[in-house]
Amino acid sequence: MNEEYLRKLNTCIQCGTCIGSCFSGKVTALNTRKILMEYIAKGKPVKEDDTIWFCVTCYACQERCPRGIPLTDILIEARKELVREKGLPGRLKNAFGFLAEYSALVPARDEHAKLREELGLPLYHSQFVDGARKEVVEIVRKHLGGVVR
Ligand code: SF4
Ligand code: SF4
Repeated sequence: MNEEYLRKLNTCIQCGTCIGSCFSGKVTALNTRKILMEYIAKGKPVKEDDTIWFCVTCYACQERCPRGIPLTDILIEARKELVREKGLPGRLKNAFGFLAEYSALVPARDEHAKLREELGLPLYHSQFVDGARKEVVEIVRKHLGGVVR
């Protein structure tokens, strides 16, 4: 864990502004402050909190924190550490694999697949030109080795 991040986290005054500002936290179990307090309490990354993936990196908490704590940057760093240690969560693995393969993040819905078939269109088509698709595949492979074929 970055020492500077730890030092900043320890200046938290527990005002709750970060939680109150979190759009994702209103509809998911994400509790920014709770996750970050794990860093303070343990001085190391959160190991088991899947809710960290509910952050949509909107930066609202970071913009509003009266102590200037770079909350979103720290959450992103925490995710990186989680991925390095435990790999991506299953759903994200699928999403990146799909992105590399089809230029899409999620499979087509049944009704859309049926409509495309009726129209004589291929199920998936690349939204990337060839060079861009190759670049996407290389980036996914480089940073998420083993995730895609
Ligand atoms: S907004 Fe900043 S100071 Fe307030 S609880 Fe969140 S991290 Fe702490
Ligand atoms: S950056 Fe993440 S944790 Fe912060 S307010 Fe946005 S969704 Fe919530």
